Amino acid sequence: MPNPKRRHTRSRRDSRRASNWKLELGGLSVCPNKDCGRLKPPHSVCPHCGFYNGELIVARKEKKKKGEQPAGETGKGKT
Ligand SMILES: [Zn+2]
Repeated sequence: MPNPKRRHTRSRRDSRRASNWKLELGGLSVCPNKDCGRLKPPHSVCPHCGFYNGELIVARKEKKKKGEQPAGETGKGKT
């Protein structure tokens, strides 16, 4: 079995860990719903409109305020 001959320094180890990670937004498909069209995980109900395979699976509550932007759903504060 190949083994490392020398231990790497903390600097080398940490720089490797710092540079080689990346948050990826992978494996997303476009929602087939015409009204939605946003990105969703494939083979799953769209979290935005609740459609799957052209059918409404999960009914979404309609927002009372029409002024809210659909993209940034902020949690409702109780205060
Ligand atoms: Zn959708």
